[in-house]
Amino acid sequence: MDAAAIINQEANYVLQTYVRPEIVFTHGEGAYLFDSEGKRYLDFTSGIAVTALGHSDPEWVTAVAQQAATLTHVSNLYHTVPHAELAEKLVTNSFADKVYFCNSGAEANEAALKFARKVAKVALNMPDKTGIVAFSGGFHGRTMGALAATYKTQYREPFQPVMPGVVFADFNDLVSAAQAIDAHTCAVIVEPVQGEGGVNLATPEFLEGLRVLCDQHQALLIFDEVQCGLGRTGTLWAHEAYGVTPDMMTLAKPLAGGLPIGATLVTQTVADVIKPGDHGSTFAAGPLVCAAANVVVERVRQAAFLAQVRDNAAYLHHRLQMLESDEIVAVRGAGLLMGIEMKTAVGSLISRARDKGLLVINAGPNVLRLAPPLIIGRDAIDTAAAVIQECLA
Ligand SMILES: *Cc1c(COP(=O)(O)O)cnc(C)c1O
Repeated sequence: MDAAAIINQEANYVLQTYVRPEIVFTHGEGAYLFDSEGKRYLDFTSGIAVTALGHSDPEWVTAVAQQAATLTHVSNLYHTVPHAELAEKLVTNSFADKVYFCNSGAEANEAALKFARKVAKVALNMPDKTGIVAFSGGFHGRTMGALAATYKTQYREPFQPVMPGVVFADFNDLVSAAQAIDAHTCAVIVEPVQGEGGVNLATPEFLEGLRVLCDQHQALLIFDEVQCGLGRTGTLWAHEAYGVTPDMMTLAKPLAGGLPIGATLVTQTVADVIKPGDHGSTFAAGPLVCAAANVVVERVRQAAFLAQVRDNAAYLHHRLQMLESDEIVAVRGAGLLMGIEMKTAVGSLISRARDKGLLVINAGPNVLRLAPPLIIGRDAIDTAAAVIQECLA
């Protein structure tokens, strides 16, 4: 295959919203990706925390292939088996009473914001209670509603006006949150562990305090677990480690192991105000993507699987603590979502690692983000740590 020709074709025909390295990937297996030259890369990005079971997991492949050969799409006009099964799995393994399905993280947050507005209008009969509180460093997606709640001005400014009504408070600062949350607030949206914003963990006091503030002001607490949910932090849901329960939780990235899906999990209070026709999607939760998601959720929810994630995460954390470099400011994270904050921009470090066969991403300019597949093992962790050390030396 002529990689240069493919790269040229992309440049000629694809709207240039991404910067990609000059590599064409052709296949993947487990924690590894292979390019058109046959070079092997250890994948510590998982397609941005998506391919939780690694690439081409045999059980996942069989489920997808069999479902594709059986039934792929009927739209939400009709019932299908994998769809109902996935809903039951998500609800019975979480705080939620019902789930709404969509196709991405942004859409899951969009749904949560719409549902919060309707709860305020209909259940509370407070039509002016439309405010949303979001936080510094937060990332919730690129559609107009989710974007309005996303902190980085660079993402919002070219497209303003975005959805009105969002106020930002400082992450992990309850004084700031208490100033922002008031009688007009219908929802507070927060990532228990921020991904894009630099791999920042909420403190337990912060999430506990948000729960109290939301209850005081009759606002709904939305946890965006699009990146940190579903086993990534070593518990099925990131918020379990905090003992704080939201009113809604959004999921997406790893849910179908590489196929597009989003989910908004809600309590009965929310479910009670949502009626047929209120929201919808043509593609959402078709049988193909749900067959894939059923494999992922069934595997990840097992106690032994999560114990292994925690064990390997502790080992990764330990190996990263051993890195030697004056450039490192801090190593932090939860489970298999780790950030290495550096004194300077990490772009060239990422390219050097890639040249040496390790794929990693950034989370903001100065933070190196590691998000290996949840099936990662110690040998691969040793390899990744060694490559990072070489790149730092
Ligand atoms: C990636 C991400 C989103 C947006 O998901 P898309 O599928 O890209 O729309 C929302 N929230 C968080 C926390 C994310 O990491």
